[in-house]
Amino acid sequence: MSDELTCKWCEKSFRTERTLSAHMCPRKRRWADKDMTHVRLAHRTFQIFYEINTNSTKPKTQEDFIRSQYYEGFTKFGRSCILNEYMEPEKFAEWLIREGKKLQVSVILIYLYLIDLLQVHLETLCLPQEKWMYMTVTIGIFLQRLN
Ligand SMILES: [Zn+2]
Repeated sequence: MSDELTCKWCEKSFRTERTLSAHMCPRKRRWADKDMTHVRLAHRTFQIFYEINTNSTKPKTQEDFIRSQYYEGFTKFGRSCILNEYMEPEKFAEWLIREGKKLQVSVILIYLYLIDLLQVHLETLCLPQEKWMYMTVTIGIFLQRLN
């Protein structure tokens, strides 16, 4: 069986080109979504994370991102940036990552999740933006102390 008839994402084999191209799996879906605004932002954030936290000079590719266990977390962050209309999401992400420099990526993702959660509650409570920023920073400092 030739390589062309194997899905590069899940390694499943197919008898014909047509069944291969009709096939969809989670990673192939990620590849198909790669040009969506929130996914592009998520990929950029993923790159920033590795630039700040490792000595690697080679930027993380789209494929590295798709194969990462953190894909969902970063994508969720990207989606939340778009939905909540953060002013400069890339700068926000960079700040977040620098603040949490010593933290594990999983902790940063918990942090992003908390901010997301907070945002949902703030909409219900109608708290002003400044208060939201203040709470965001407080959670950041709290998590840093946990480390
Ligand atoms: Zn596949």
